[in-house]
Amino acid sequence: MIPYGKHCVDEDDIDAVVDVLRNQFLTQGSVVPQFEQALCEYTGTNHCVAVNSATSGLHVACLAAGVIAGDVVWTVPNSFVASANCALYCGARIDFVDIDPLTRNIDIGALEKKLHHAATQNCLPKALIVVHFSGLSCDMQSIHKLTQMYSIVLIEDAAHGLGGSYQQSKIGSCVYSDMAVLSFHPVKSITSAEGGAVLTNQSHVYEKLTLFAKHGVTKDPSQFRGESHGSWYYQQLELGYNYRLSDIHAALGLSQLKKLDVFIQKRSKLANVYNQALADLPLKLPVVEPQFKSAWHLYMVELTQHDRQKVYQQLHKKGVAVNVHYIPIHLQPYYQQLGFKQGDFPVSEHFYQHALTLPLFPSLTPAEQSKVVDVLHEVLL
Ligand SMILES: *Cc1c(COP(=O)(O)O)cnc(C)c1O
Repeated sequence: MIPYGKHCVDEDDIDAVVDVLRNQFLTQGSVVPQFEQALCEYTGTNHCVAVNSATSGLHVACLAAGVIAGDVVWTVPNSFVASANCALYCGARIDFVDIDPLTRNIDIGALEKKLHHAATQNCLPKALIVVHFSGLSCDMQSIHKLTQMYSIVLIEDAAHGLGGSYQQSKIGSCVYSDMAVLSFHPVKSITSAEGGAVLTNQSHVYEKLTLFAKHGVTKDPSQFRGESHGSWYYQQLELGYNYRLSDIHAALGLSQLKKLDVFIQKRSKLANVYNQALADLPLKLPVVEPQFKSAWHLYMVELTQHDRQKVYQQLHKKGVAVNVHYIPIHLQPYYQQLGFKQGDFPVSEHFYQHALTLPLFPSLTPAEQSKVVDVLHEVLL
């Protein structure tokens, strides 16, 4: 069975983890700050807080944005549930903006209209969370212009995006946003098993992120209310969480980060092979404009003539484990119970009905990829 995604761990990754187990602190040691520093250098960002998942990262990003009960946060339906759940964790309400049928990222025209309407109703969101779906950056400059106009905190869910770029900058650079959240789950660009990070260029945001990810507790005397009792002293200033990444996980992430560019090159070569080899099939293939460099987290196709359910089963029977991204968040039973319904976001719903994710990961061999291409031809022609 050829899977749709797979991590790529070598001997040097294993050695890096073993070194922590043998010689270093298992948590709160020096490897986490090294990993954070390396992520700042790679993305060109000033500050980074490593956390134990992107989900935790999205939660602390919302907290640092000041999201509280009574606020509204907007995101897209075409994402993993974590992109919306983070707002609910803060007691806020969530609403969605539909996607663009070509990029499958947020529809900027729809966003502009919805913002204009919300402004007239006095119900603007506190924060907007955009998703760089499949590793293709959103048009951040245009989105930033809108969020600036209405004073909305802009958060990038960059779980798919590490290694991709937009204009002259890496995804995660926060040139046009307040914060960007990365994931190191095994199917993503690089892995730390479980893990994530929040990037920002603003030092006051960085301080809040650090506080919320570490129990709301600080040992920094400059942040204390009143006098320090001595060098053992700490204060809890916020209701924070234990979202720390361990040094064992950070060692894996740091070692993987050294190979990120090679991983992305391999993904992008494989994507080009698909683009050419599938051009004769009744499929809508992904489009990437020249000012974007996709991280190619996912290679998505849309069926234009066939029934998705049937094709999915035929491909699985023939050894190709295609997947489907994403069941629109607003159609999940939990979100239906909050009042969302079928028909609310038709572009996301249409995409979901026809989408298939093909196998794409750095270690996919030419022989395996040929098999995927051949099987698709057998099933679709
Ligand atoms: C994977 C993913 C997440 C969650 O990442 P975890 O690190 O598993 O918490 C959030 N958003 C998107 C878009 C994802 O793909």
